[in-house]
Parts: sequence; structure tokens; C-alpha cells
Amino acid sequence: MSALHFGFDHSYARDVPAGFRPGQPARAPAPQLVFLNRPLARELGLDPAAWTDTLAADVFSGNRLPEDARPIAQAYAGHQFGGFSPQLGDGRALLLGELIDRQGRRRDLAFKGSGRTPFSRGGDGKAALGPMLREVLIGEALQALGVPTTRALAVVATGEAVRRDRPLPGAVLTRVAASHLRVGSLQYFAARGEADSLARLVDHAVARHDPELATEPDRAARALGLLLAVARRQAALLAQWMNLGFIHGVMNTDNMSLSGESIDFGPCAFLEAYDPATVFSSIDQTGRYAYGNQPHIARWNLARLAEALLPLLAPPEDDAAQQRAVDRVMEVINAFPDLYAAELLRGQRAKLGLAPLAGAAADPERDRADTALGDAWLNLLQNQAVDFTLAWRRLAYAAQGQEAPLRGLFAEPAALDPWLLRWRERMAQDGGDASGRAVAMRRVNPWLIPRNHRVEEALEAASESGDLSPFEELLAALAEPFDERSDRERYAEPAPREVTARYQTFCGT
Ligand code: AMP
Ligand code: MG
Repeated sequence: MSALHFGFDHSYARDVPAGFRPGQPARAPAPQLVFLNRPLARELGLDPAAWTDTLAADVFSGNRLPEDARPIAQAYAGHQFGGFSPQLGDGRALLLGELIDRQGRRRDLAFKGSGRTPFSRGGDGKAALGPMLREVLIGEALQALGVPTTRALAVVATGEAVRRDRPLPGAVLTRVAASHLRVGSLQYFAARGEADSLARLVDHAVARHDPELATEPDRAARALGLLLAVARRQAALLAQWMNLGFIHGVMNTDNMSLSGESIDFGPCAFLEAYDPATVFSSIDQTGRYAYGNQPHIARWNLARLAEALLPLLAPPEDDAAQQRAVDRVMEVINAFPDLYAAELLRGQRAKLGLAPLAGAAADPERDRADTALGDAWLNLLQNQAVDFTLAWRRLAYAAQGQEAPLRGLFAEPAALDPWLLRWRERMAQDGGDASGRAVAMRRVNPWLIPRNHRVEEALEAASESGDLSPFEELLAALAEPFDERSDRERYAEPAPREVTARYQTFCGT
């Protein structure tokens, strides 16, 4: 494959002709390669060894497009903080095409920050370097933690200043995603009453994410199947986020993917001290997207997805049929809390060092008891404002008899005693050896997460003084979140409490 022929396919453009507008990247005056994800490039079947830095900077700034790229801005709508915008769309992004990766998976390649598009409204279509490097760090961290996520292939500084509250270095990020299909993508056609395009988009989504549904002859069944599949993926995703203390920050329906990947986590942040009310995003005044509210928001977003699919489930003019369709989608929406709870418990059992239940045998009583055990643990963390990540990590040491590091996190460690007793009794029921259990626990309870103060430090150095070494060092550490290394202690330490108390994140638009 030549350096400028990527082997793109364009199934979205073929399948959903009304779902995009063609676009062209803006010219970058002095592109400089800041980040290139070589392993990801190889995973995509590309050959990064053939790219000089100059060529990569040209290509991933948009100055020199691969010859088979076909840049388009995708259309979508979205509920932003609960209010509906019938037309958002890629205002600063361009999909270049799709690649079939080495494992046969279809992946989107898209620019972010590449200039104005027909969907830009008042915006400049640009992105600042800091927020794009933030997307790199968080995406790679989530990936290493085993969470489905969009990832960054490259970041190029454009050499142009973008105007925010002050001039900032501009950048283009190249993003890889299982797809960029969002809840809002379907809402777009539903809001316009374009049932034909809506149906095409459903079939496109099914082909990409739920191919086993593609042979289902009934259109309504395909749409309903997609809804259920998205609900399952989101339940699993949300459980992973919650078990890691991840706060997405802006779970608008246009930022919730059909693929179940984490996407558009601009103002995201990880919890430090455990508190479900935690909000870091400066624009989230009411706490709509607070840590503890995320599962509820996911359900709310799924209800919006269900509404968008209704025109395909029954003829809109047939009231009785529509009512039956509403009943059917409500079954899925109402099942979501249980789907989520089961996923959360599955993850929590592993974090607590409890064996997964053998076989498919449901044991509601044990589920209730284990859920209560997990809740009681979280209550302890909340009551004493204990660091979420370190507490879980040190629980693994407590499992092998080393309680002191865990106790050291609590101002009043005696409060732990009754819970530890309960936990030990529960582990004894599972049997197994303590050191094996501790090893397994350390594989699911990370030592490192992207600590907010470390992320800010790295972005500031890159953005203010062009010093990339803190970013690169942090990125390397986040790629190995389960490994304790003495030279990485500072990444594991929580931020000083005053710093977290006034910490705010921004969408970076
Ligand atoms: P986001 O908050 O990044 O998920 O973006 C929400 C919407 O605003 C999307 O339609 C974006 O394309 C659009 N948008 C964000 N920033 C810009 C910008 N600088 N220029 C144009 N559109 C933007
Ligand atoms: Mg978005």
C-alpha cells in the first residue's frame, strides 16, 4: 500500500446519502507532527514506517489527503443538556473513510479540528492542541483499562493560533472509531420525518455493529434489535465507567455511540475521593452529568433513541400500532437498569475479589448480598472521602493479609472493621488461595488512572511551552495502568484536596 493510498471504503456515504455533506480540510500553515500512534496505525493495516514526520504532518493535518479519502461531514441531531437541537452534525470534524483493520473490523478514520464544514454554524471548525492531547491521553488510558473507546491515531499542530478566551495553538486530531454513529444520528432523520433515510441508517448500523440482525427480514424487528443491542453495549460501558470512576462529562445524545465505545469525552475526568455527586465540567451547572447520574442519563438517552426508531416500528398514522410499538420499546428501556446492574455487579465482584458465579445459574439472593457488600464498601469510601482508585487497589493487598496500606487511606480506619469481616466471610465461601485472588484483583483495580492534575500539567507544558515530554511520559505510564513502578509513584498519587475541589474541565471548543 503506497503511503498516500490507505485502502479506504466509504460504506456510510454509500448507504446513507442524505446523512452527510462533502467537506474539505482547512489548510494548516505550518503542520508539525505532535503524536503518532504507530501500533494503532499498524493495527489498521497501515505502514507507519513508510511515513516521514513531514509526510505524516502533511497527511494528518489534512494538507495532503490520502488519494482515496472522501472527506464528509456527518449529519446528526442531539439533546444537549436535555434540550433538542435538530441539526448539529460534524461542525469541526470530517470522516475520511473506513478501513478494515487486521482483525477484519471496520473502523472510521476522521479528523477533528480540520476547519469549517456545512454544519459549523457559528464555530470556527478548529480545535486547540491541549484538548486534542487530552483526548489522546484519555482514549489511550481507557483502552489500556479495557474500556471500549475511540482512539487517537495522530495529532498535528497546525502552526495556526485558534481564538478561544485567548489565542491557543491549533491542532488536528485523527480519530479512529468503530463508527461515528450516535443516538443523535438517528434522531436527525426522525426529527426531519425522513423515514426512508432513517431505515437506511438503521440497516447501516446493523451491518456494522450487529450483523447477526442483518438477515432479519422484518424492518421493525431489525430496529428493535438494534435498540436492545445498543442498550446492552451501553449497560456494559456504563458499568465499566462507574467501576473505574470515570465521568464522561457531557453525555448528550450526540455523544453516545451506537457501537458502545466511549466518544467525545471532552470535559471528562476521573473521580478522586468517592462521591457520586462529583461534577467537574464547567458547563454542567445542575449536575446533570454527575458521576452518579450517568446510568440514569444513559437510560434517558436510550429512550430518545427509542423515540427516534418508532417510525420504523409501526406506521405513524396508526395510533393503536404506535401504542404497541411504544410498549415494546418501553420494555427495552425499562430493562436497562437491570442490564446495567448486572454488568456493574459482574465488574464489582471481580474488583472485590469474588469469584464469578459458575455457569448461567442465577442466584438472586447472592446477587443482592454481593450488591449490598459493594454498596457498603462505597459508603465507607464516601463517608471518609477516600480516594476511589487507591482504595480499590489497596483492597487487593488486604485480600492477601496486608491491611495497613488500605487502612492508611481512612481517617477513621476502625469504621472499616465490620465491613472487612463481612468481606472475608464472603471470600471464604468462594474458597481459593489469597495470593491468586490478590493477583486477579490487581488486574482489574488499576494503580494508575489519568489523574486530573497530572493531565493538566502535561497539557500545559505542551500547550504553553511546546514541551511534550510530560505528555509522553504520562502517556507511557497510562498504557500500563496495572503495573506498579517506583518511578511512576507521582502519577498514582491523588491531587491535593484543594486542587480537586476547584478543578474544572472545559469542552475545549
Ligand atoms: P462537542 O461538544 O465537541 O461534542 O460538540 C457539539 C457540537 O458542536 C457538534 O456539532 C460539534 O461539531 C460542534 N462544535 C464544537 N466545537 C466547534 C467548533 N469549534 N466549530 C464548529 N463546530 C463546533
Ligand atoms: Mg460531540
